[in-house]
Amino acid sequence: MISRIDLRGNALPEGGDLRDLLPRAEFDVEAALETVRPICEDVRHRGSAAVIEWGEKFDGVRSDSIRVPAEALTEALEQLDPAVRAALEESIRRARLVHRSQRRTTHTTQVVPGGTVTEKWVPVDRVGLYVPGGRSVYPSSVVMNVVPAQEAGVEGIAVSSPPQKEFGGLPHPTILAACALLGVDEVYAAGGAQAVAMFAYGTADCLPVNLVTGPGNIYVAAAKRLLKGRIGIDAEAGPTEIAILADATADPAHVAADLISQAEHDPMAAAVLVTDSEDLAAATEAELKTQVAASKHVADRIAPALAGRQSAIVLVNDLEDGLKVVDAYAAEHLEIQTADAAAVADRVRNAGAVFVGPWSPVSLGDYCAGSNHVLPTGGCACHSSGLSVQSFLRGIHIVDYTRDALAEVTHHVVTLAEAEDLPAHGAALKARFGWKVPQA
Ligand code: NAD
Repeated sequence: MISRIDLRGNALPEGGDLRDLLPRAEFDVEAALETVRPICEDVRHRGSAAVIEWGEKFDGVRSDSIRVPAEALTEALEQLDPAVRAALEESIRRARLVHRSQRRTTHTTQVVPGGTVTEKWVPVDRVGLYVPGGRSVYPSSVVMNVVPAQEAGVEGIAVSSPPQKEFGGLPHPTILAACALLGVDEVYAAGGAQAVAMFAYGTADCLPVNLVTGPGNIYVAAAKRLLKGRIGIDAEAGPTEIAILADATADPAHVAADLISQAEHDPMAAAVLVTDSEDLAAATEAELKTQVAASKHVADRIAPALAGRQSAIVLVNDLEDGLKVVDAYAAEHLEIQTADAAAVADRVRNAGAVFVGPWSPVSLGDYCAGSNHVLPTGGCACHSSGLSVQSFLRGIHIVDYTRDALAEVTHHVVTLAEAEDLPAHGAALKARFGWKVPQA
């Protein structure tokens, strides 16, 4: 089932050498670029008709139109199971609390008397939010995309999710209901690369957007990479990952359940336990055998995810080495299940999100912690953050100097311009003060 990597004994290697010893999914976005390039080009030239045709090919259903009619959104909300509605409302309420506190305020710094720089935070005008819907449907991803965009003040919010065969080519009704609950009325039935291209280029049904966010499979990630520049993107969120740093105090039943919870997403999902306890490793292996047998989605997702090269139990000498390993791995989700978990968590530098102690499992964060679940995968947590209000804002510097404040610094600007052999830069200032400006 799950393999072991034994790093006990010798001193751990540093940096990239340590990363090379750790398990990781093969997620070759470069290779998928060749698959998505013709799809994106087709959507660019033929618009909505191409989106519909690629949907028919990959999702097995032909939509009449890519724009979801308003009545379908209202109907989905009316027919939503009341328990699911209550859970979504609670998820939204908690996410709003956290994301509202991320709002940025305009800040002015007086650099010198009469010289100020103001940083003004402006929301992106129009965003396209991708909500996956291939193997599973993720109404929770509607919440995680829409709430930060709304709290950032984005005015144009469009959501897209793959058309579903059993729902006549519309996205899954729970996704439509979640959109309605959040007050989003611009929703498209489009998945994969064709959805990202629709957002980037625009079609007769969908105006182009400035930024595309949201998780998805390798084709979504490849299309985002291909079209980056034309659109802004968030981090490329690939197959989900859980790493658990645990010692002998952890409960193996909880550890196994949490590893399985993320393996359930995808055969390429990664589940990694890092521990200094041989006893915990053995007990977790035994628990995995029992719990996997009793799980749903075993053959198609959980078993291949746990057996894949991306998953392992990593044995280390002690928690110090465990911390080095989890920092090198830079997991999307990192659980700390050790004695004094808060102190250990405080020392983590690289992770998309950290879940502290036995009562903060990743599944809580997937739905109802208030934190965001669109997080960097594939080690990108060492340089990127999860989705937040900040993802939807741009900071604009507003420079405002008086005559005296400019006069005081002019000689420095001229010196630096000359050092860079860009005399016209200096001349722009000299002209204001009657200095000698070069004549033709
Ligand atoms: P998806 O919506 O991302 O992809 C489905 C689309 O892929 C289809 O509509 C189709 O257009 C396209 N597609 C399928 N086969 C194709 C092919 N051969 N060539 C070109 N395009 C093709 O749904 P999914 O596949 O279930 O993937 C969702 C992913 O998102 C999973 O890996 C899951 O782990 C991940 N996820 C990540 C997070 C996160 O925050 N990191 C959250 C939720 C889900």
